[in-house]
Amino acid sequence: MRPTPLRLTVGPLMSNSYLLCDGPECLLVDPGGDPEALLGAVGRRRLRAVIATHMHFDHVWGARRIVDATGATFMVHRADWEIAGDLLSLAEELGFSAPEIPRSAEFLEDGQVLWRGLRVIHAPGHTPGSLCLMGDGFLLTGDTLFAGSVGRADTPWSDPDALPRSVCRIYREVPHHYTILPGHGPPSTVGEEAEHNPVISARACGDRSSSAIL
Ligand SMILES: [Zn+2]
Ligand SMILES: [Zn+2]
Repeated sequence: MRPTPLRLTVGPLMSNSYLLCDGPECLLVDPGGDPEALLGAVGRRRLRAVIATHMHFDHVWGARRIVDATGATFMVHRADWEIAGDLLSLAEELGFSAPEIPRSAEFLEDGQVLWRGLRVIHAPGHTPGSLCLMGDGFLLTGDTLFAGSVGRADTPWSDPDALPRSVCRIYREVPHHYTILPGHGPPSTVGEEAEHNPVISARACGDRSSSAIL
């Protein structure tokens, strides 16, 4: 089965939220705003889980409301959950108030396989617990890799050494014809970014691409 992610652009920073549905069940990734619109997109289907690629406010803005309304499980990497308060304070620096987040979370780990074969890739750098999610033909990249750019590594808790390692790992491990679906902006492909990304291309990976990432 191959659920195709539906992209909904929401919230104050125009975050991409992705809804993956198969028949009566769905997963929602990065509810960055407009919870009512996202709930409307889910409709009468059962929302199994709300997944955050990381705990920045523009990716979890609507999470509490949606989890409370649906009973969905909230899933995130433990490394981000443990410093959620710090990560959410980025909202105040940018002139927003930090959103309430779900009361509890289930933790995701590198290599874990979720509903319909969706695979978790831990991609630290932008935040310590940043995740990518690989499905059949696509990779949800959060704020790790964008079309023509990569995520910021100059915010509190980001790691400018880890981010390139994570991007290089994507180039090395994810099929290059896969579509990337980033947390902001338009889609691209892994191959397009590996070849032409002006910040980190596969050429820039050099020795990194052959060294262990984990
Ligand atoms: Zn972010
Ligand atoms: Zn973001």
